Amino acid sequence: MHKSEQPEHRARKRFGQNFLEDIGVISAIGNAISPQPNEHIVEIGPGLGALTSELIGRAKQLTLIELDRDLLPKLEHKFQEKDAWSILSADALEVDFSELAGAGQIRVVGNLPYNISTPLIFHLLEYANQIQDMHFMLQKEVVLRLTAKPGTGAWGRLSLMVQYFCDAEFLLEVPPEAFNPAPKVDSAVVRLTPRPPPYPAKDLNQLELVIKTAFAQRRKTLRNTLKSLFNAEQLIELGIDPSARAETLHLEQYVMLSNKLTS
Ligand code: SAM
Repeated sequence: MHKSEQPEHRARKRFGQNFLEDIGVISAIGNAISPQPNEHIVEIGPGLGALTSELIGRAKQLTLIELDRDLLPKLEHKFQEKDAWSILSADALEVDFSELAGAGQIRVVGNLPYNISTPLIFHLLEYANQIQDMHFMLQKEVVLRLTAKPGTGAWGRLSLMVQYFCDAEFLLEVPPEAFNPAPKVDSAVVRLTPRPPPYPAKDLNQLELVIKTAFAQRRKTLRNTLKSLFNAEQLIELGIDPSARAETLHLEQYVMLSNKLTS
């Protein structure tokens, strides 16, 4: 093997490695992100650099965060001619994104390892005011939950907590064949755009508590699931039907319940 050649990489299951290979999908994601010359983009899990190729050279700065150390020399080799990019060899769940953003804002991108996608999104929400937007490839079922509307089976804790902080848009569906190796499930790309909460909660912990308690048994009525926090009269006073179920309440109603607890 020539010195500059890189040995073939075997996808590792424990790092959730499914590499994107479909050029049409890769360029559709690049177009959806459309990096601008004044931006700092952070890509989580660049892998072999499929999405990275769409981003590199287009933004002012590109930071890659990759957990698998074996991939670092491959990325360095592949993009050696390019400027204004760097790699952080780290677990994205432990990265302080406010440090990366500094005094500015970042845009976050990633074809995420599906086993850590929910904790990673919750971790990123802590930095929502320093994030301009996020584009993620996820399991389609997770994207449906992120973008769900009240009154549907997909509406739950993930939809509510994410939509408290962000607008969530379903961008495109991606079949298993677009990856190597092909995952067992369909995937989709979501755009999350942080904005001020439409109905501010006085205490975010209380909002999380009410939502978690209501959805602990989603088939039961609110009279039952919320009885440790409210009695039926209190629910009626707040304009909430005690015989309704958790999935019928809107974000505004959960915020109202949590603010009642806080007061
Ligand atoms: N972006 C590449 C693509 O689209 O082909 C790779 C996507 S692959 C689904 C997920 C990538 O995330 C892998 O490169 C994996 O090594 C990396 N990864 C897994 N866990 C990670 C973590 N906790 N922090 C950062 N990267 C991680």
